[in-house]
Amino acid sequence: MEKEIEVNKNIIREDLEAYAKYLKVEKNCILCDKKNHETWAKYGSYTAVKCKNDDMIWINPQLSEEGLNKYYEDYIGMRFKDEIKTKQRKVQYQLDKEYIENWISSGRVLDVGCSGGFFLDALSDSFEKHGIEIDSKAVEYANKTYSFGKKVNSVRIEDVKYPEGYFDLVVMRGAIEHLPDPKTAVKKVSKILKKGGYFYIAATPNAASFCADLYREKWNMFHPVRHIFYFGADTISKLCAPFGLKLVGRHYPYEETPYANIESDQKEVLRAWELKMEGKFEKIGRSPSFWGNMMNLVLRKT
Ligand SMILES: [Zn+2]
Repeated sequence: MEKEIEVNKNIIREDLEAYAKYLKVEKNCILCDKKNHETWAKYGSYTAVKCKNDDMIWINPQLSEEGLNKYYEDYIGMRFKDEIKTKQRKVQYQLDKEYIENWISSGRVLDVGCSGGFFLDALSDSFEKHGIEIDSKAVEYANKTYSFGKKVNSVRIEDVKYPEGYFDLVVMRGAIEHLPDPKTAVKKVSKILKKGGYFYIAATPNAASFCADLYREKWNMFHPVRHIFYFGADTISKLCAPFGLKLVGRHYPYEETPYANIESDQKEVLRAWELKMEGKFEKIGRSPSFWGNMMNLVLRKT
């Protein structure tokens, strides 16, 4: 049976309860390593918690590796196919490209979780382009479609074999929130980045936003299987600082994106806020796109 997936639109139409039996991995906060958190959101069997020390938000417990593998086995290729046909995404790639190229516009770049190579393709040709992606169908597509295609490989960031200081730019576009171990990933990013190089975290949900707090599990970026960790600029900053990565730029794309319907989005969010104030949270629908929902962050290796 084919299932319909609209993660970033209005509803989650997947049977996530089918994976709930794999909810086995309890985690302390990845920033302070403490167990001092409270429930932030609930969705069926899934719970998101928020650390009282530093506002880090994550799904707890999380799916075991077996559970995650099972989930992605069932859905692999879906997002990728969706990306091929989505024009909106292409416009967004262009905007995200323009933002990072204010800092750096040539050198060696690695896109972590590059899917079919679409964002690499959007980047200027003055870059030497490399990508990694675990969806083998997406890797195959990149291999045969682009001139940089043979530099796209199916490997996890933790396992890459690039030399230290090899890259001028490492990109994670819509990726860091999916990783079961973002700390190890960031450590590896820092290792393969050269001194003065940039780490670009783009198109990632901003959990420090107005909508995240208002809507919680009804926030359009909330997906308890795909999105495991929910960051804001401050929590990213804290995660990256121990590895010599310093936040130097931030941008919250909305108005200029193809996802904005400013007037109706405003109305909808205002109505949701009123309903919440009236104690009628159950009447609120899933959030629209809005100011602050997404963020693009630039970090520099010092
Ligand atoms: Zn904490």
